[in-house]
Amino acid sequence: MKCPYCNYYDTSVLDSRDSEDLGSIRRRRECMKCEKRFTTYERVDMVDMIVMKKDGRREQFDKKKLMTGMLKATEKRPVTMDQIEKAVDEIERELRKRDSIEIPSKIMGEFVMNKLKKLDEVAYIRFASVYRSFDDLETFEKEVKSLLKNKGQVS
Ligand SMILES: [Zn+2]
Repeated sequence: MKCPYCNYYDTSVLDSRDSEDLGSIRRRRECMKCEKRFTTYERVDMVDMIVMKKDGRREQFDKKKLMTGMLKATEKRPVTMDQIEKAVDEIERELRKRDSIEIPSKIMGEFVMNKLKKLDEVAYIRFASVYRSFDDLETFEKEVKSLLKNKGQVS
């Protein structure tokens, strides 16, 4: 890591810690020559998690899909994008804390339900009622879409 001020090649690490952002480490460094201080962020390569479906299929954990599911469940509810993003980050963090990189889809669904329960009661019920009988977020998404269509809420 070169010093951004004088380009000297050697810097010492004063302090390092996990940053708020998942999977990055923040380091406070000091140049050995000009003694200026600066901060670097290092990305940590994270092992992909595998979601195991009831039918035995496996697929890579997809944060976007998780986000889509949450958005569907909270559609037209007083839940902000910030809250959803935060919840999704938290779910991912909690999933990564588990010992295994293989996550049964059921467990993922339960994590989502726990989050929704805190965010919005209606969104939670919406999600729980359909998710419990389905296997994954994709199926859930379709189901909610058709539910909303039937109620005339989605054109
Ligand atoms: Zn320097």
